[in-house]
Amino acid sequence: MKIEVRQGAIQDLEAALIVVNLFEGVTEPRGATHAVDQALAGRIGEVLSWGDFRGKLNETALLYPGADFPAKRVLIVGLGKQEEFDLDKVRQVSATAARKARSIGVTEYATIVHGAGAAGLDAAEAAQALAEGTLLSQYRFTQHRTETDTLDEEKQLDTVHVLVFSAELVETIEHGVRVGEAIAAAVNWVRDLVNQPANYATPSILAEEARRMAEAAGLSFQAIGPAEMRQLGMGALLGVAQGSVQEPRLIILEHNPGRREDPPVVLVGKGITFDSGGISLKRSENMEAMKGDMAGAAAVMGAMRAISTLCISQRVVGLMPATENLPSGSAYKPGDVVKTIIGKTIEVTNTDAEGRLVLADALGYAQRYEPAAVIDLATLTGACVVALGQVAAGLFSTDDDLVARIEAASRVTAEKVWRMPLWPEYGEQIKSEVADMKNTGGRPAGAITAAMLLRKFVGDLPWAHLDIAGVSGSDKDRPYQPKGATGYGVRLLVEMLRSFDTPIPAAI
Ligand code: MN
Ligand code: ZN
Repeated sequence: MKIEVRQGAIQDLEAALIVVNLFEGVTEPRGATHAVDQALAGRIGEVLSWGDFRGKLNETALLYPGADFPAKRVLIVGLGKQEEFDLDKVRQVSATAARKARSIGVTEYATIVHGAGAAGLDAAEAAQALAEGTLLSQYRFTQHRTETDTLDEEKQLDTVHVLVFSAELVETIEHGVRVGEAIAAAVNWVRDLVNQPANYATPSILAEEARRMAEAAGLSFQAIGPAEMRQLGMGALLGVAQGSVQEPRLIILEHNPGRREDPPVVLVGKGITFDSGGISLKRSENMEAMKGDMAGAAAVMGAMRAISTLCISQRVVGLMPATENLPSGSAYKPGDVVKTIIGKTIEVTNTDAEGRLVLADALGYAQRYEPAAVIDLATLTGACVVALGQVAAGLFSTDDDLVARIEAASRVTAEKVWRMPLWPEYGEQIKSEVADMKNTGGRPAGAITAAMLLRKFVGDLPWAHLDIAGVSGSDKDRPYQPKGATGYGVRLLVEMLRSFDTPIPAAI
């Protein structure tokens, strides 16, 4: 599907469908919607006076103007309350329009840039949000289906024309759309990786996907296998991997690898391609969802892809420790002690707390880059889902500046984060009698004790950990987030890294 930008007045366009908008409670349309209303001899105003359409967020009204008007259909989308309007509403209404267009079988339509007019948003940012919302809304995971149940599944959008009235804004909006396209393509790719069944996404396959992507995007790529892991002393990652016949991989991607003197930002993503729990086996209900236990790794891969396409100036390294966690005769067991890359030892009290083990070795490995900051993303704990649901990721950090950057990016991308404490009292729960620490701290504060363990592997580096167990998948269809893998974190990381070398944006 492509998005084309051009100058023009939307009311003059011969199209199957044109999209305009209205804020909630507005009785007299303004801007492009006003121009369309005028060309329609006041039909939009009439519909408003009937009360059929109130402009509530994501509300739609479809008009059939008849032979005197160039477009066959006019779709009005509600922007919601003007005082609550922001970039995320642009994403949502763009998605709503795209979904509506697809559902009526239109393959091509024209739209104005929501938010660039009356709402006064930055034109490039609004255009980026429009492209993101439109492209993210059309995502479907159909690769393994050979039959379609409904006609709806066969419908597909081909082209969206973005009409810009003022000629001097065309270039700005074109640029915003291309940025949004690059980011949305990365997010949808991540959704594919996360939705992919574990038999189609083993650690080796994930590494192969990363290699192919790196080649196309211009990133450097490396994958470390078990022999080298042994040499490096990655006993925790190898411990988790030893129950599976699939070899583990540490996938390494690098953006701006030539800048050796620049301390990089290192992104680390948990890549458990299937988590059965191991010997501490999970219950079978919903175990299939554990194919998505590599959403952190996928998000980092997607962010690397997007920042390379966007040529951001910051040097960035992505580390993805990937393995399966399975029970078998060779599997690691409760009570085992594993030795990590930095020499610290961990008693395994539950083999289902494997994520922190693979991250411990990856975070330890990250230190060799002498990074400016380390950020890890992991579907780490069910406790985080209990605390924050599918609404926000848990944010844990030792560095207030890094938190400010992540929170600022989060306000732009609407990928919510909520900061959790790392008070030393919680450290008591992971003390072990036989090793330096144990990998579980019991039920209380489970998301925090997991983060407390990770903290022991980052030294004094500015570090942030995002527990994305709740936000990596959605049970509900949302305007630009169809049910299933969300691709959470890609947009957040890209937004943060685009401005990493500039002063921290102030809170709004
Ligand atoms: Mn687990
Ligand atoms: Zn896991």
